[in-house]
Amino acid sequence: MKLILTDYIILSIGISVLISFIYFSIISYKEKEKNASAKLAIIGIAIFLLLFSLAIYNFKFKEIISLTIITILPISLIILLFPFRKKHNIKRIIPKKQIDERDIMFSRYNLKEDTEEYNNYYLENPELKDFDDYLRKKPGLLSDKSSLYNKHIFNATKASFSVSQHLKSIVKGKAKQKKEINKEETTKFIKAWVKHLGAVSVGITELKNYHLYSHHGRELHGKKVINKDKYAIAFTVEMDKDLIDSSPNAPTILESAKKYVDAAVIAVQLAEYIRNLGYNASAHIDESYEVVCPLVARDAGLGEIGRMGLLMTPELGPRVRIAVVTTELELITDSIKYEPSVINFCTICKKCADSCPSNAISFNKQENIDGVIRWQINQEKCFEFWTQTGTDCGRCISVCPYSHPNNLMHNVVRSGIKNSTLFSLLALKMDDYFYGRKPKSKVSEKFGV
Ligand code: SF4
Ligand code: SF4
Repeated sequence: MKLILTDYIILSIGISVLISFIYFSIISYKEKEKNASAKLAIIGIAIFLLLFSLAIYNFKFKEIISLTIITILPISLIILLFPFRKKHNIKRIIPKKQIDERDIMFSRYNLKEDTEEYNNYYLENPELKDFDDYLRKKPGLLSDKSSLYNKHIFNATKASFSVSQHLKSIVKGKAKQKKEINKEETTKFIKAWVKHLGAVSVGITELKNYHLYSHHGRELHGKKVINKDKYAIAFTVEMDKDLIDSSPNAPTILESAKKYVDAAVIAVQLAEYIRNLGYNASAHIDESYEVVCPLVARDAGLGEIGRMGLLMTPELGPRVRIAVVTTELELITDSIKYEPSVINFCTICKKCADSCPSNAISFNKQENIDGVIRWQINQEKCFEFWTQTGTDCGRCISVCPYSHPNNLMHNVVRSGIKNSTLFSLLALKMDDYFYGRKPKSKVSEKFGV
């Protein structure tokens, strides 16, 4: 057996493919994606064996086949990785009007019959009354009558949410004596400290009117939101993949609550630190928001808003929770990073819409909603599912291809999606093949549910 140059090249390609696929297979195994891991190992070994046979056996057309592979492979790679993107003329979402917190499902659901708030709200919105009354008869979030009730997990979740309740009393406070500050130095410190406290990403934007709710919908129901701060600091914390993958089962809401608390703990410390410097600051945490967090986070350069209406971060997709601190303290803002590849990918992907158990996510292209081109989920359908199961579902977050862990393998795919429309199509097909078009919920390792 005498090998020639083309045989050596084919062998090297085979060995590289084998090493890469085995590496990806090990990563997938560690991510508990056993199906993907097995498929990757089988494909890697199969390609290697084919190329190995091609290199060592002599048969008719061997040279032509070898040369074709050697030529086509780099050309395909260049085509796939070449930075070519279909132009996207969708403009940045700038809401024409403020969102009224009274209109979000949590606020509507919490209205108590025969109270002033209840009567006033349904006088103005009579078309919502029947559905909301029907919803209030459902078991409700964390209810022991709900279909996915789990005694330990639901009560632990309530315990976590009670921490957020306590933190609400310190979201605002009196600023101490003013200290001279240097904008650059303070901005740098804040970003480093917030990350040190556990945030994955942090950004700063000027606070715009459309970031603010027009009216409070929870405790101060009906009161106008008044916030004169000039800047908003938004940050994200990661939600655990293992627990989110159990969605819509109980561990997902356990993780949601934990991350609301984690984000809130960071936010109240940050607000207090700014007040210690002598400047007004307010933390916006679970159940105590004056701002629409995803909009603020997007304008602070932390991501885009995708098909499911959530912030899609470059590192973890929608698998994050957000909190915001608004302040009068002068800071350096981040530039808005418009990332059309996310919108392009969401346009073709639709995996969240396919997997949503309540059909709340649109399959359509972005639409003009109140003068803004975007996607909007059907919050009624989504919340109805929550009030039945008792959890906050999260299936859409779990199945999103951007939610994969932040590691080399997935980052290569993310950067390919960012660069090339062709790669995006391939990435979607690969995601469907390796993880399933409608991935099933997994049993959480930590809690066995
Ligand atoms: S699942 Fe797909 S369509 Fe849905 S938000 Fe994620 S990338 Fe977009
Ligand atoms: S949380 Fe669940 S029900 Fe709501 S939109 Fe996502 S997948 Fe659908």
